[in-house]
Amino acid sequence: METKGNILVIDDELGIREGCRRALTPQGFDVHTAASMKDGLQMVQDEEFDLVLLDIMMPDGRGIELLEPIHEKDEDIVCVIITGYATIELAVKAIKQGAYNFISKPFTSDTLIMTVNQGLEKRRLSQETRRLQKIEQHAAELVRVKEEMERLDKFKSDFMLMVAHELRSPVAGAQSLLRTILRGLAGDLNQQQVELLRRVNLRMDMLLELINDLLSLAASKSIEPDESLELININPIIQQVVNNFSVQAEDKKISLIFEPIEIPVAVLATEDGLFTLFNNLMGNAIKYTSEGGSVQVSLDFKDDCVQITFSDTGIGIPKEDVPHLWEEFYRASNVRKSEITGTGLGLSIVKQLVERYSGDIEVISAEGKGTKFIVTMPLDRTSKNDQVS
Ligand code: ADP
Repeated sequence: METKGNILVIDDELGIREGCRRALTPQGFDVHTAASMKDGLQMVQDEEFDLVLLDIMMPDGRGIELLEPIHEKDEDIVCVIITGYATIELAVKAIKQGAYNFISKPFTSDTLIMTVNQGLEKRRLSQETRRLQKIEQHAAELVRVKEEMERLDKFKSDFMLMVAHELRSPVAGAQSLLRTILRGLAGDLNQQQVELLRRVNLRMDMLLELINDLLSLAASKSIEPDESLELININPIIQQVVNNFSVQAEDKKISLIFEPIEIPVAVLATEDGLFTLFNNLMGNAIKYTSEGGSVQVSLDFKDDCVQITFSDTGIGIPKEDVPHLWEEFYRASNVRKSEITGTGLGLSIVKQLVERYSGDIEVISAEGKGTKFIVTMPLDRTSKNDQVS
C-alpha cells in the first residue's frame, strides 16, 4: 500500500518514539525512529523522509543542530520540533532556523496527527511551488534561446543578403559579355565553342536564379513586424503572373487556366511580396508539369478567408518529402533524381510571406498525378462585404 508519508522520529525517549509510531502508523504513515542525533542524521542521509519529528534536547546535542544538514539533503523536508515546556524559547529559535512547527510534550495523538498532516501539506505546497518555479525558469530560458536564435537567423539573413547582392552585378555582367560572344559579336566561333559557351550560359542562369532566390528569401525574412501592410486586390496580380508565364506554358503545351473574379479580393500584404509568392507557386507548377499537362489557378472563399489554389497535373511530390518542403534548400527525392533544376528556396520564401500575411499554406500531392498548393489568407472586411452583395 502506498504510504501517506515517510516519517522519522528522532528522540532519546523510547516512550515518545513508540507513542509516535502507535499514533501515526494506523493513519497510513511509514514511521522510522532513531534514539540519538547521530543515528538520526545517518538515517536522513541514507533514506528519503518527508517529515522529521525532532527532539530539541538530546544527550548528544540539540535537535536544532540537525536542521541544517537535513535541509541540505532536501530543502522541502518538514521538521517539527518536539519540545518540553522549559524549552519553548529554543523552539521559537528553531522555527527561525527553518523548522516548520513545534509540539510541546506531553501531546495527544490528535495533536500529533494534525501537526504531521499540516506539515505534509506544507511540503506538498513547497514542492509544487518549486516545480512551478522550475517551469517558469524553463520558460524564461526558452524565450532567451528563441530570441538568440532569431538574432542569429537575422544575422544569417543579413549576411546572405549582402553576399547575394554583391554577387549579382558581377555575375549578371559576366553573363551579358558571354551572350555578346555567343551572338558572334566578338568574332566567329566554331561549333564546339558555341556549344561550350551555351552550357556556361545555362550554368550562369542557374547561378542567377540562386542569387535571386537568396535575395528574395533574405527580403522576406528581413521585413520588420511593424512594417505596414497595404490592402491589395489579388486579382490583377494573379492575372499578371499568369500572363508572364503564358509563353513558357505554351512552349510546353501546358494549358494555363485562370478565371478572374469580377469583384476585388483585398488582402493585407505588400505588392512585391504577393508577386514573389504567386510567381514561385506558378513557376513551380509549370516547371514540374510535363508537356501536354495543365495548370490551374482558382479562387475560393472560406469563412473570412480567400483561398488561392495552384493545381497542376505534374510529377507530384513523394509523401515522405512533403513535411520538409518549407526547409531552405530542400528538394524532393523525385526532383533530385531528375534533370529539372532549382534551388530549393522558393517554397521557404513562400512560407515566410504567407505567415507574414497571417495566412496559411497547405499542399496536397500524389506522386505521378499532380500537386495542389492552397494559400489561405484573411480577407479584408470591405472586400468580404462586396463579395456578399
Ligand atoms: P525548387 O527551386 O527546387 O523548385 P522550391 O523551394 O520552389 O525549390 O520547391 C521545393 C521542392 O518542392 C521542389 O524541389 C520540388 O521537389 C517540390 N515542388 C514544389 N512545387 C512542386 C510542384 N508543383 N510539383 C511537384 N513538386 C513540387
